[in-house]
Amino acid sequence: MAAPADELIAKYEAVIGLEVHVQLGTRTKIFCGCPVVFGAAANTNVCPVCLGMPGALPVLNGAAVEMAVKAALGLKCRVNPASRFARKNYFYPDLPKGYQISQYDEPLAEHGELEITLEGGERKRIGVTRVHMEDDAGKSIHDGFRDSDQYTYVDLNRAGTPLIEIVSEPDMRSAEEAYAYLTALKEVMQYLNVSECDMEKGQLRCDANVSVRPRGEEKLGTKAEIKNLNSFRFARMAIEYEIGRQVGLIEGGEKVEQETRLYNADTGMTVGMRSKEHAHDYRYFPEPDLTPVRVGGDWLEGIRRAMPELPAEKRKRFIESYGLREYDAQVLTADRGLSEYFEKTAEAAGGEGNAARLAANWVMGDLMAALKGAGIEAAPVKAERLGELVAMIAKGEISGKMAKEIFARMAETGDGARAVMEREGLKQISDAGALEKIVDEVLAASPKQVEQYRSGKTTVMGFLVGQVMKATKGQANPGAVNEVLKAKLG
Ligand SMILES: [Zn+2]
Repeated sequence: MAAPADELIAKYEAVIGLEVHVQLGTRTKIFCGCPVVFGAAANTNVCPVCLGMPGALPVLNGAAVEMAVKAALGLKCRVNPASRFARKNYFYPDLPKGYQISQYDEPLAEHGELEITLEGGERKRIGVTRVHMEDDAGKSIHDGFRDSDQYTYVDLNRAGTPLIEIVSEPDMRSAEEAYAYLTALKEVMQYLNVSECDMEKGQLRCDANVSVRPRGEEKLGTKAEIKNLNSFRFARMAIEYEIGRQVGLIEGGEKVEQETRLYNADTGMTVGMRSKEHAHDYRYFPEPDLTPVRVGGDWLEGIRRAMPELPAEKRKRFIESYGLREYDAQVLTADRGLSEYFEKTAEAAGGEGNAARLAANWVMGDLMAALKGAGIEAAPVKAERLGELVAMIAKGEISGKMAKEIFARMAETGDGARAVMEREGLKQISDAGALEKIVDEVLAASPKQVEQYRSGKTTVMGFLVGQVMKATKGQANPGAVNEVLKAKLG
């Protein structure tokens, strides 16, 4: 089926809610002491608890609860004083217990929100319905074995890995907004050190509920759930496709079925997998082997007090106190380490105004280029030292061109800006006396241009400045050169 024309799609409004599973970065599993390690030999990190052996009892991992609470607070949720685990029953080969331990009617936290930033800088709040804890299943392996055409293998290392599920309100209206939500969510989790959110390791997975309705209509359309979107880009493309598909059905006089669909990245389409399951299909009931989770008092207050500044707040502060542009603030706060590096650079450069904006340009320009895609922890120049360099540019001690040379030497040697400048003789010549001598020489060597300038062709000024810059190997202060030249030429 061809996607309907954009004008047709524009007559409809999409309603999107996301369910995101985030793996918590604990050392051990949620209900046993098995290590959580990516890439270990199959079925080596398992024990009677995570293998679901009869009689084995789960014990809740306190570190997992603490991380889940941090995540909930980062999403501005109300953390419930008591929450409870529940069994979600279903049969699948990679689920040895025959049920997942999740939370159902008494989740860890509710009523949160997440601020997203759209292209053009517009901000929007997306409601967070709930955050609950659960364990992950194992992994079915369908290929890579000699007899993979006949058998599916199961690796249970991942079974029992701690997860949180973050359920949003159906507040998003486009694939773009869903993408922005995922980006903002990942930033918050990373700022809190709750998860690295490495999607290639399955640490963040997303299901999208998508429906459409004619614009102006209040009633929600029938939704389809797209399962297991394992990249933000695929999530955006899958939602985009799904919106078009549903509009096409409605416009063609057909009905959207409530069902679970899968996105095929090769075809760019979603395909029906099964009719949507309902909560009653899972026969939820309270987990009898675990006591309720109680979160409160000094413990909760301690976590609350230790919360770092979150990306959205930091972004606003960077704009207000450093005068950064929206886009720059966005780039510099996308990663906590990078935001801290920028802030140290800006403070060392003078802390505000021009120096701070210059610091932003240097961090996003030359420093990022020098990193060649590596993380900020690999920065070849310390933030304080880059700040020193930026301060020298801001004060006009060195030109931007010289600064680039100095920066390259700093990255090579680890030396400070001033030390490099003095050793390499890269100081800017601003002294009028020194410049006058060079200007005199240049004017004596360019009688034709002097003549042209005096007869009114002032554009030759550029040529003369260039000659002086050349004679000083770029070390002359262009502003000062201009002044001296003008004075000499009358
Ligand atoms: Zn185990």
